[in-house]
Formats: sequence, structure tokens, C-alpha cells
Amino acid sequence: MRVAIIGSGPAGFYAAEALLKRTDTEVHVDMFERLPTPYGLVRGGVAPDHQSMKTVTRVYARTAARPTFRFMGNVGLGRDVTVEDLRRHYHQIVYATGNEDDRRLGIPGEGMARCTPATVFIGWYNGHPDYKNAKIDLSVSRVAIVGHGNVAMDAARMLLYTPVKLEKTDIAGHALEVLRQSKVREVFVLGRRGPEHATFTPPELREFVEMDDVDVVIDPGALAGCVIPETEGTTQQERNLKILQSFTKRQPGAREKKLHIRFLVSPTEVIADAEGNVAGIALEKNRLEVNPDGTVSARGTGEIEILDVGMVLPAIGYAAQRIPGVPYDEKARIIANRDGRVVEPVTRSVIANEYVVGWARTGPHGLIGSHKGASARVVELMIADGAGLEARELPGREAIVSLLRQRSLQTVSFNDWKQLDDVEVARGARRGAPRDKIVDVEAMLTVLAPR
Ligand code: NAP
Repeated sequence: MRVAIIGSGPAGFYAAEALLKRTDTEVHVDMFERLPTPYGLVRGGVAPDHQSMKTVTRVYARTAARPTFRFMGNVGLGRDVTVEDLRRHYHQIVYATGNEDDRRLGIPGEGMARCTPATVFIGWYNGHPDYKNAKIDLSVSRVAIVGHGNVAMDAARMLLYTPVKLEKTDIAGHALEVLRQSKVREVFVLGRRGPEHATFTPPELREFVEMDDVDVVIDPGALAGCVIPETEGTTQQERNLKILQSFTKRQPGAREKKLHIRFLVSPTEVIADAEGNVAGIALEKNRLEVNPDGTVSARGTGEIEILDVGMVLPAIGYAAQRIPGVPYDEKARIIANRDGRVVEPVTRSVIANEYVVGWARTGPHGLIGSHKGASARVVELMIADGAGLEARELPGREAIVSLLRQRSLQTVSFNDWKQLDDVEVARGARRGAPRDKIVDVEAMLTVLAPR
């Protein structure tokens, strides 16, 4: 059976491995990736100070070394190949395209200079080619981050880090330079609900305990009414509350930088100064309301405060991008699917032989490791649906390569990527870092151009 996987992040690689290790069916996988480099969010999203998390790429490299796997980097679906091309050359297609759009607050002032989605900030410091020219101006002292998830925490940490600590990471060189000049001293992370509803995880919260030049400031009253365990706690919520409580006991401090964690506030407007830059953010105080299904929502009280900040980073989640020819669920902002089988968005009828894994299937939930089992479950459906499919005769395995060549595309193989990898690692060694990323696609292709 021949399968095309679109996207080379964790979910795509886990699907590839689950297909390639099967003993009941011989599967050939071609993995298409719009960038010349593999690994999706592991390369472009995981924070530079979380290097150990990036070692998971060794597992993906082992998958890539399997003889029935091919990497086709620098080939974008909807840009260089169409869904129709893939249907012609493969028995099954797996979309593993992740969530590359950010969600918007939809409030006045969003989009002005220095109001930048956290996605952009994160892509920029991680050297993602899409964000290499992002204008990140850290000449302001106070920044507001909207959202209480791990993306907000990553962004806050990166803003408050002493840059020297980042030199030995794979942070993009351009970001390191800007962070060295940063004037940011106070970061406000703003949650619309209470401490018990935050989705950041205890390890991420605990990292601020270890930043000895950062005070974490929380109004002790914010925890009133929360059931805080005597011990460390067992659930994520309990452990978060325990750590938050420990912060309230530590303050006030005299450290140079501050992380303010605020609850029960929603931004209603980003306020501009005379030059059109961010001068503040209007926040509405919320109260909580329990819905009939037991979930808890924030409701505005009408009480407004203005927080003086020079920059706003909304970190309120991601959404899948629309890809021409791929059914899109407008409401959930994912590829339309039922348990991983792609469906027609209106009738919900299954589109045969097309599947989706990872965040493109579920939306932006779940840590990297959780996608291993999730992708494997979709592969089980593929195998069950695919009985007898291999009898459908396809053009030869090289036909897709010829097609890409006819379109004058410079595809990047996994061996090519290894060459890029070596170059980046050698560049990184100069500053004692694991790698110094090449952030420009043309520059990557130049490295690989035959001499
Ligand atoms: P998330 O955990 O869903 O957090 C989104 C936050 O935005 C929530 O606090 C949410 O509040 C808030 N929000 C949503 N819409 C809002 C609005 N209109 N106004 C104000 N606030 C709003 O998502 P994420 O931080 O983007 O992370 C995505 C996934 O990646 C998560 O699974 C996360 O754990 C993972 N991740 C992990 C790491 C790590 O391991 N270090 C790093 C980054 C990301 P409500 O709860 O009220 O909706």
C-alpha cells in the first residue's frame, strides 16, 4: 500500500511509524513537508530552553531511516501539489498539517504595532522561516500576554529570561540579538477564568520558581475559594494551585523582573498611543458562571481597568489552516473529520481513503507524546478500511518524483536534511549551542544546491 503523509511534525511521524512497522501489510510512506526541514512544532514551536524535549526527533529520524520511507521536503500541498495529484499517486492520504493559524481576540486595536499573536513571537524566536522578518520590538518595559495556557507561559519565560541563558540553546540568532537589548521587565499573563481553570501545566509554572531574578506576583485573594490540597496534589489543577499558593507566600520581593499572573479578566480593547503603538490594554473584570453541562464560563461584569503595557501577545490558541481541496470544519477550525476519517463538512459523509491526525484533527490540545497513541489509532482505521486497496494500480513510485521535477521543484530528501542539520550544528558549535538554525528557505536550498 502506498500512503502520502502531509506534514512532518510529531503526529505525522507517529502515523508513519505505525504504518511502517506493520507486519500484516507492506506500506510505503512518502512524507511531504512544505519546508525543507522536518519536525513541525518540535523545531518551530518547542521553546529553546526545552532542549531535552527536542531529543524526540531521534525517534523520528529512526522512522525516516526505514527503507520504505521517503521525505519530500519543500513540497507544499496546495502550493506545489494538489489533493488530486496525491489521490492519483497514493492509496491513502494522511493530513498531519497541524494548526498554523492563530485565533484572534476580535477586539478593537488588535493588529496594531506591538500587538502580535504569540504564534508570531514563538515562530520568530524559534527561527521558523515564516516569521524571520517579524517585527518584534522589545524596547518596552511591560508586556501583557492573554491566555493561561503553556504557550502563554513559554512566551512569558522567553521574555523574562536572562539572554545569556539562551545562548547555549537553538534559539534563532536574530532573536538572541533582540532579547539581549530587551527592556522588558514586567510581564502580565491574563486569564479570563480562575486559577483552577488555567491550562498551563505544573512543570511550566514551576520553571518560574527557578528564575532567581523574577518575582511572581499573584493577588493572594485570587486563590480565595479554591480548594488547595495540603500535599503537592495529584491532579494538574491541584498541583497548579499548590504552586500558585507558594508564589503568594513568597511575595513581595525585590527582584529585577516581575511575572504578574492575573485571573478573571478579559481584554476588551488594545489602546494606542499617538504613534499608533500599544499604550495599554482595557480589561473587563469577569465573574464565573456554571453552565448547564457543568462547564464554567467567564462573564463580563462591566467593570473596566486599564493596564499600562507597551506590547500585547494574545496566546489564546491555534487553528488549522485551510488547504485547497481539503474539507474544512469552519466551526472547530480543523480538517473536517470523524475520529480521524476525513468527512465532507456539511453532510459529514466520509471521504474514502483520506485521514487526519494531530492538531489538524483535534485542534490544539495534547502534548507531543499524546499523539503517538492517537496517530496509531487512526492508522488502525486506515488498515481496516484499506483491505484490498493495494490492488488499485498506481503510477510507479518514481512518477511523483518526475511530476515534482517537471514542476521545477527542488525537493529535499531526508539525506539532504541531514546535510542541513550538519551545517546548523556546526554553526551552533561556534556559540556553544546545539544548533544555529538557518531561517531562510532560499538559504537552505543554496546549501543543498549541487556545486
Ligand atoms: P490552551 O492551553 O488551550 O490555552 C489557551 C488559553 O487561551 C486558555 O487560557 C483560554 O482560556 C484562553 N482563551 C481562549 N480564548 C480566549 C479569549 N477569547 N479571551 C481570553 N482568553 C482566551 O492553548 P495553548 O497555550 O495555545 O497550548 C496549546 C497546546 O500546546 C496545549 O496542549 C499545551 O499544553 C501545548 N503546549 C505545551 C507546551 C509545553 O509542554 N511546554 C508549550 C506550549 C504548548 P479558557 O480556558 O477560558 O478557554
